[in-house]
Parts: sequence; C-alpha cells; structure tokens
Amino acid sequence: MKHLKALNKYLWKYKTRLSIGIVFVFLSNYFNVLSPQVTGFVIDFVQKSLNLAGYHPGATPPNYDILVRKFIDAVEHSKFTVGGIVALCGITILILALLRGLFLFLMRQSIIVMSRLIEFDQKNEIYKHYQKLDAAFFKTHNTGDLMNRIAEDVSRVRYFTGPAIMYLANLVAVISLSVFYMMKRNEELTLYVLAPLPLLAVTIYFVNNIINKKSERIQALLSDITTNAQESYSGIRVIKSFVQERAMLGFFKKNSEEYRKNAIGLAKVEAIYFPSITLLIGLSTLLTIMIGGLYYIYGNRNIGIDAIVEFVMYINMLSFPVSAIGLTASMIQRAAASQKRLNEFLLTEPAIHNPPEPAIVQLQGNISFVNVNFTYPHTGIQALKNFNLEIKKGEKIAIVGRTGSGKSTIAHLLLRMYNATTGEIKLDGTDIRNIDLKILREQISYVPQDVFLFSDTVENNILFGMEKGQRDIVEKAARQASVEKEIHSFSRQYETMIGERGVTLSGGQKQRISIARALIKDPNLVIFDDCLSAVDVKTEQEIIGSLYEFLRSKTAIIITHRIFSLFNFDKIVVLDDGEIVEEGTHAELMEANGYYAGLYNRQQEQEDEVSG
Ligand code: ADP
Ligand code: MG
Repeated sequence: MKHLKALNKYLWKYKTRLSIGIVFVFLSNYFNVLSPQVTGFVIDFVQKSLNLAGYHPGATPPNYDILVRKFIDAVEHSKFTVGGIVALCGITILILALLRGLFLFLMRQSIIVMSRLIEFDQKNEIYKHYQKLDAAFFKTHNTGDLMNRIAEDVSRVRYFTGPAIMYLANLVAVISLSVFYMMKRNEELTLYVLAPLPLLAVTIYFVNNIINKKSERIQALLSDITTNAQESYSGIRVIKSFVQERAMLGFFKKNSEEYRKNAIGLAKVEAIYFPSITLLIGLSTLLTIMIGGLYYIYGNRNIGIDAIVEFVMYINMLSFPVSAIGLTASMIQRAAASQKRLNEFLLTEPAIHNPPEPAIVQLQGNISFVNVNFTYPHTGIQALKNFNLEIKKGEKIAIVGRTGSGKSTIAHLLLRMYNATTGEIKLDGTDIRNIDLKILREQISYVPQDVFLFSDTVENNILFGMEKGQRDIVEKAARQASVEKEIHSFSRQYETMIGERGVTLSGGQKQRISIARALIKDPNLVIFDDCLSAVDVKTEQEIIGSLYEFLRSKTAIIITHRIFSLFNFDKIVVLDDGEIVEEGTHAELMEANGYYAGLYNRQQEQEDEVSG
C-alpha cells in the first residue's frame, strides 16, 4: 500500500476536482437516502387516511430528514386529495431519483476524468524518465517489460485513482448516511439489519483472495500467449521456411489450454461470489421483515409497515456498494503492485547524467583518449584496454579490426553512452564528463552500426529532429549518401513511408538513409560505425568520393572492417581484443607488413576474384 504514496503528488495536483467529486458522491447518496423516507410517509399517510383495519399510528412521528419533514408539512397542509398527495409523493421520488442520477453523472465526470488526467501525466512522466536512462539500463531490461509498465501497469493504477476511489467514497457515503437515518428511525431494527455484515465482510475477504490469486495467474498466462503470438507473427517467414507451423500451433495450444483452465476456474469462483453476497444481503432483508413484522403485529416498539418498507429500501441501497468492496480491494491491491513496479523504474537513477556545472562548448574536433579502460557493466566484458589515441582537428582516422575487437565501443564512449571505467576522454581539452550531454551529442554526427529507421516518411527519417520543410538540404544529404537515385524510383519519393506499413528497404538502402541523416547535421565531428557493410563496392566508392568533399574540414572517425584504399586517412588504428596492435598511415602499415597488410592483401584478392 505504501507504494501508492507516489500518487499523492497527482492527487494533490487535482485536489479541487477530487474534492468536488467527493461532494458529488455525498450529494447523490443524500438524495438517494431521502426516497425511503418519502415512501415511508406515503405508506403511513394512505393507511391513516383510508383508516385501514389494524392500523395504529406510531407513538412519536418518525424522525425524518429536515427536507422530508418540510415536504410532509407542506403536503399535509395543502388542499390536495389523498390521490393527489400520493401522486405528488410519486413525482417527488422521481425527482429525487433524477437528482441522484445527475450527481452520479457529475461524480463520474470529476473522478473518472481526474483518473484519466493522472494516467496521462503518469505516462508522460514514465516516458520522460525512460529517455533519461542510460544504455546499460536498456541492455538489462527488455522492451516488452518497459512497454508493459507504461501501458498495463499505468492503467491498473488508474483503476485506483478512478473507480476505486469513487467506490470507496460511495461506500463511506452510503453506509454513513443510511445508518445515520436508520438509527434515527429505529435503533433496534438497525442492529438486526447490520448483524449479518461481519459475516459478509469475512466472506468477501476470503473469496476475494482466491479471485485475486487466480486472476494474477491468468494475467501472467495471457502475457505468455501474447508474446507467443507476437513472436510467431514477426518470425512467420522463419516458421514457414522451416515448416514449423504445426509445432508452433502445438505450443500455442498448450498455452491457450492452460489459460482456458484457469479462466474457467476463475469463472466458477466468481459465480459463487455474487450469489453468496446476495444470500447474505437477503438474510438482512429477511431478518428485518420477520422481526419488524413481529413488532408490528404485537403493536409495540413503535414500528409500522412504513418503517419495514423503509428498512428494506435501505438494505437494497447498501447491497451494491457492499458487494463492490471485494472488487475495490482487489483494484487497490493490484494498483499497489503495479505502482511498485513503476516506482522501481522511476527511482532508477541514470548512470550517465549531466555534470552539475556543464561546460557549454563549441566542439572543434580535437579528441584524446588517455589510458582508457572500459568494461561493460553487467557482462563484465572488458572491451577496451589501456587505450590511448590522439586525434587533431580535421584529421580522418580509420579504425579497423575484427568483430568484437572494441571498435563500436570507442564510438559509444565518445557519445557518452557509457562512462569510461578508468582513464579520460577529452574533447578540445575538456573531459567529456564535464560537457553538457545534449550539446555533446548534438555536435557529433553518428551513424550507428545497427541502422534504425522509424515508421515514417523518407524525408522525416533523414530530417529526424531537424526543422521540417527543408527539402533542398534533404536532397543534398541524400545525394551525398548516394541514395538519391533510389529515392527517386520510389512511388512517392521523399514522401514514401518506410517500415512495416511502407516500402521494405534493403540493408544497403537503410544504411545510406542513415548516413544521409547524419550528414544533414553538419557538425565538426563525424563518427561512422561500419556503415557501409551492406553496400556493394561500387556504391561504396561513390559514397567515399562524395564524403571526401563533405568531410574536408571535419574530424572523422571511420570504423570499418573493410579497408578503403582510396581514402587518404591521416592515421589507421588496428584494434585487436580491445588493444591497439598497429597504428600509422596506409603506407607505413603496408611497409610493416602486419595484420593490416594481411587484411589488405586478402581483400584485394577477393575483389580481383569478383571482378575477374
Ligand atoms: P566491434 O564493434 O569491434 O565488433 P564492440 O565494440 O561492439 O566490437 O564489442 C567489443 C566487446 O564488447 C565484444 O566482446 C562485445 O561482445 C562486447 N559488447 C559490446 N557491446 C556490449 C554491450 N552493450 N554490453 C555488453 N557487452 C558488449
Ligand atoms: Mg561494431
């Protein structure tokens, strides 16, 4: 329950709405509780006026609510006939019902709307927090889990801020008001009415626990089924090509079967729940009629038919709110569990955050790595060992090495996706941990190794984050990335949708659009991470040709597993297992005849084979 405290700030934010809502709850119940009194009066009045056999007036007039007493006073002193008065009472009861309905409507309008507003705020809060969290967090939490919390858990919390609060307020209002007027009417009869209540509470508690356990289990099974179905749709091509439809179906059936069994089990328990509550409430009614009837027959205790009818109406009034206690309790329990899960994330501090006094710098492009060691958190893989590298403004550096040698890690550290474990990385002499994060990342153009395009138009994917409506610079970037021709061949050109509902691009096309996205930013520092791996040799040379022009005054780090012999690098760094094993210009490294020369010769042979 303590986890729900995190919601206090929202409840406080919407305190006016909440308090008005609670006032409406009381008003609707107030008008509701008046109708048994008017009914009681009219029954007594008819008996008295027609002088029915067995009728004996009560010793004292019933202690009704002040509004009802005023109404009775006015009616009794009016010139209406008996029939007219009965009709008038009927109309009054109708008006009371309408008033009650009106306030019920307003109550939902204020409390349920409040819960929707809180849901909206909470989703935004969580989304904003997700964005602040670092790369290590996203490595250790799966997307499904993140999505579940922002969708499922938030909506379960909404059941607390909306319906649960409403039902609770309603329960308090209905019990306090009806018990208050019942006591005023007849204390003894009230006790009989309330006698089965403890039994009711215990029943609700036990049955509700069972229901809760079962529905938790069902929720978990449902999530399994969804994941199962989702995976088979996205992997449908693999399933079909390996002819595994039957196996997948069997798997799905097994999950569904488990779900079916549990759902039916729950339905059984629920089927017992409402009848047992109805039974207990019926017991109250029975006691009232029996004991009230006996009192009436023997003419003592000041109880007439009117009082019995009133009490039966009060019991009916209590039955829904009381039977909803179980539902409300489980809503609160689930909301608390969900909020606990949300708090876990909201209280996670990002490992990478802005320095207290961030340096606002205009990056020139001087980079130095000083004794950098880096171990990936959680996996403990040491990706860089005692790494030293000095890059001057305007230099073009190539980083080569086999997969897993730590090339991409260099890019991650420069962008401060992770902090170096030991050592220092400086940009223009400032430690990157002291540079404003946003400014740092804004000034580096980065083409990641794994391309990611959004389900949006080609233009928006290239412009990503830049102001819209600059078609000329989009076209220029596309031309530099050698993807212009292909975009022109698409039916809607730059307006073509990419992704699930649009065109399917080849790996190379995706890479080039991703390059165009980086080129459009035009900063002083550029990092390309193996971004030409899916591009053929001819296109590669084309891109390198146009990049030359683009990179003229910029510092560039080009990570690659192929050697661009045509590109005149200032320095080539060969990495192996996180360490620099060779370093120098193309000519120097060829001379040294080491790893680089070997790689170069092998590549030449392959190219000869292809072209020959
Ligand atoms: P390269 O880009 O040269 O292929 P990486 O820099 O991606 O190499 O990886 C270097 C080493 O770090 C590898 O052993 C890889 O398995 C590991 N590694 C890479 N990324 C992560 C990560 N996010 N979490 C844990 N280990 C990682
Ligand atoms: Mg890599």
